[in-house]
Amino acid sequence: MSAHTGTLYIVSAPSGAGKTSLVKALIDAMPNVRVSVSHTTRAMRPGEVDGVNYHFVAREEFLARMEQGEFLEHAEVFGNLYGTSQRWLEQTLAEGFDLILEIDWQGAQQVRHLLPQARSIFILPPTQEALRQRLTNRGQDSDEIIERRMREAVSEMSHYVEYDYLVINDDFAHALEDLKAIFRANQLRLQTQQERFGGLLEQLLA
Ligand code: 5GP
Repeated sequence: MSAHTGTLYIVSAPSGAGKTSLVKALIDAMPNVRVSVSHTTRAMRPGEVDGVNYHFVAREEFLARMEQGEFLEHAEVFGNLYGTSQRWLEQTLAEGFDLILEIDWQGAQQVRHLLPQARSIFILPPTQEALRQRLTNRGQDSDEIIERRMREAVSEMSHYVEYDYLVINDDFAHALEDLKAIFRANQLRLQTQQERFGGLLEQLLA
């Protein structure tokens, strides 16, 4: 158990903004950062792995876990339920890891209310055209579904003002550097450094 408590980060973005790839690259680059694996009732997409991308559960199981107070926050997004496990979150932060919650604006509002010390980051695409392109590139969907996703994305993006940091994902490498800079700067905050280097600080001032 580390004496230092990790920082909680909320990362939100409209679908198609590149959030998941950016968060993956960030945790690969920063060993002390972890990402929370949510529970969801939505169907698994090709390439997804249970327990890695999400814990995929039936609606009844989700509701039972909710009843037992297992989720710090939960929300219904596009007809599916999503929730963050409170116990895992607390354990990971207590072990000194910074922890990312990839959640929507509704979950972000709940977490901010419960844990005001959480930092929140919103990732935006560079243009509506780029977003449409990324939503189209995903494959088989009809124009109607793509238009619906665009409307949902615009509605999600309207919440950007509620966040502490804004990252524009125009160039992937640049956006990743921006994310890393947010994490590094937070790791260097006085209180965090005092917790991490308590012994050193005592020695220096003896
Ligand atoms: P997707 O189904 O495309 O993976 O995610 C749909 C939306 O649900 C995204 O905005 C994603 O951030 C959000 N989401 C994923 N997990 C959670 C969660 O545990 N809580 C909340 N509130 N939203 C989540």
